[in-house]
Amino acid sequence: MRITFILLIVLISHKSAYSQDAKEFSNSAFLKKLYTDKSYTDLKRKIALEFMHIPAGRWGEFVDGVDERILTQKKIVAFTFDACGGKNGNGYDKELIEYLRKEKIPATLFVTGKWIDSQFNSFLDLSCDSLFEIENHGLNHRPCSVKGDSIYGIHGTANIEEAFDEIEANARKIEAITNHYPHFYRSATAFIDEAGAAMTSKLDITAISYEVLSGDAIPFASESAIEENVLKNVKPGAIIIMHFNHPEWNTKEAMERIVPELKKMDYSFVLLKDFSLTSLNGKVSNIRKDVLFDIH
Ligand SMILES: [Zn+2]
Repeated sequence: MRITFILLIVLISHKSAYSQDAKEFSNSAFLKKLYTDKSYTDLKRKIALEFMHIPAGRWGEFVDGVDERILTQKKIVAFTFDACGGKNGNGYDKELIEYLRKEKIPATLFVTGKWIDSQFNSFLDLSCDSLFEIENHGLNHRPCSVKGDSIYGIHGTANIEEAFDEIEANARKIEAITNHYPHFYRSATAFIDEAGAAMTSKLDITAISYEVLSGDAIPFASESAIEENVLKNVKPGAIIIMHFNHPEWNTKEAMERIVPELKKMDYSFVLLKDFSLTSLNGKVSNIRKDVLFDIH
């Protein structure tokens, strides 16, 4: 009886500690705190001054300063899954994650601050699992623009300061919760302008897009359509983009078909953080000395 009582108290306090953390790290509370942090506001001012006269450059998914693939000729690919957050994006595809765990498939997860707020305990659970790498998908899922460009009806950030908040605030939020400052940033929708990509690199973060579009986000995409998109376009070093915030989509069902086929083709699966990346035009923007440099 006594043990049960103690267990109950421990469980209750554990649960309330989680919800306390969730509150403390919520986008609004965390940003408010950052605005009083001199290291953050000084860096923001410095970046704003530096980029004041730099033109936005091209706006798209494959612009200069963005990487789309792993620098390798080996048969490896990186599965990357976004969690966008917001009104229609706050879900958690638990079955997909269970499948990845069961099959021991490493995956790089790009999360927004909004999604962390809605799935705080699941986020903690994922961030403790070395099968997964947590990376940055922006604080509020706003495409990274320095002049307010939009795409698919989603408003991008209006200026360099907003672009900075979108990337750096979420990077610090991830670091504050997990002790790991992200290596990579994928803009919401993958659209970004060249000034935004250059700014990302000043933060020691590599802006990435993708090489293989799975199409899992296309309304009502069937598992066979997603499978075909991946298998037709896969090549050594490909970064494959999918989502893990829509359990109602066919992502997991498609993965159950894609993974065995890729294995038959001798592909293995890696985390982005273990490799240097490159762009589709072959321009290497960031050779990382601390990771496997593997072009053979
Ligand atoms: Zn997204």
